[in-house]
Amino acid sequence: MSKYWSPAISQLTPYVPGEQPKVDNLIKLNTNENPYPPSPRAEEAINNYPKERLRLYCDPDATLLKQALADHFQLQYDNIFVGNGSDEVLALAFMAFFRQDQPLLLPETTYSFYDVYCKLYDIEYRQIPLTNAFEIDLEQYNQANGGIIFANPNAPTGRLLELGKIERLLQNNTESLVIVDEAYIDFGGASAVELTRQYDNVLVIQTFSKSRSLAGLRIGYALGHKNLIEGLERVKNSFNSYPLDSLAIAGAVAALEDDEYFRETTGKIIDCREWTTNQLEALGFDVVPSATNFVFTCHRSLSGAELMSYLRSNNLLVRHFGKPGIENFLRITIGTYDEMQELINTLKQHPDISS
Ligand code: PMP
Repeated sequence: MSKYWSPAISQLTPYVPGEQPKVDNLIKLNTNENPYPPSPRAEEAINNYPKERLRLYCDPDATLLKQALADHFQLQYDNIFVGNGSDEVLALAFMAFFRQDQPLLLPETTYSFYDVYCKLYDIEYRQIPLTNAFEIDLEQYNQANGGIIFANPNAPTGRLLELGKIERLLQNNTESLVIVDEAYIDFGGASAVELTRQYDNVLVIQTFSKSRSLAGLRIGYALGHKNLIEGLERVKNSFNSYPLDSLAIAGAVAALEDDEYFRETTGKIIDCREWTTNQLEALGFDVVPSATNFVFTCHRSLSGAELMSYLRSNNLLVRHFGKPGIENFLRITIGTYDEMQELINTLKQHPDISS
């Protein structure tokens, strides 16, 4: 604490350092990384990048990547914004679009950075509880003059909203911007990208960190009406003119082109999620239906804290939020089959878990 801190900074808590441990003997199922390496084409593009060109500033517009994304989604170049991870894209969107005098509506249980950005940028916000089945209750989001944001599928719950419901939300809130954070959409959901062609009040944000297995390169992007994209560009240019480095641009373009590898690896993760769900249910866990690369689950008799520390003492790292209402839930990233088999075997050895 320093007397020089702004009131907003005083409310913030630093990122839990234990979530990115500096040891490598752990099975890391806590931050929803992809267990498979990135596309070999991405690796090749980075290796082949002419290193003498690193002397120069990178392309501030990341033109090659924006064009590749435009082609991929069949959108125009001016419908695309790119940034340093979707966290940065989200931060810039909060700065660009949300306000101090009208509350932004967001789910009570969702990605934890949303309310952090509200505090940081002094944005009014109202958190709306999920239904008992952990679904986002879109009926509660009408007349939202200060905007709406949610993750779809939601995190940490993993539940997916159907596109029809999102479209109705856009129609019922024509004066309000709706941001759909689709960090996990490639693991089985229908994307709202289609809606950006028709509605100017929706911004879709996606990432290369999950389904493209490039969390370490830090690449996120937003798709939407060109006026929304221009708003983001204005903020970006006053904040960090070079959000993506040259190697990240080269790697991302190559990864995006490797559709076959993308389908193969996301397919394996989806299959393994279903396998893991069945195995957990057989051990007395309730598992929330997931459209992501993780499962949100609780055991019928053991507490979340107990389970997390039992797994941690067996070198398995999972996420426990410990917040009221979800204190008994763990969020477990889907790893390889071997990793998930190890998780299941370890759970079976717990004296209070019977198979
Ligand atoms: N949105 C959601 C819902 C997430 O879970 C994450 C990853 N933790 C992000 C955005 C940020 O991802 P990245 O910055 O790696 O693109």
